[in-house]
Amino acid sequence: MSQQQFENFTASTLYCEKCRATTPVREKLLLVLPDREIFDYLCTECGSSVGQREVTAGEKMMAEAVAARNRRAIPIQSLR
Ligand SMILES: [Zn+2]
Repeated sequence: MSQQQFENFTASTLYCEKCRATTPVREKLLLVLPDREIFDYLCTECGSSVGQREVTAGEKMMAEAVAARNRRAIPIQSLR
């Protein structure tokens, strides 16, 4: 399952089958859903899609919380 690889890290280079090489990729916001955002990775050489990544609302909240912490402390109300 090559799909599994994409879920665990944010890649700046991925293997492109068309180019038969590991190439730099461009992250493009593909779809925004109420609970997640889906990003498409496009090969910068040929423009074909080489992978996708899902960012769940929870992950996005964490990222925003970290960013917000650099400005000022905010109360986290939905922490479980
Ligand atoms: Zn390519």
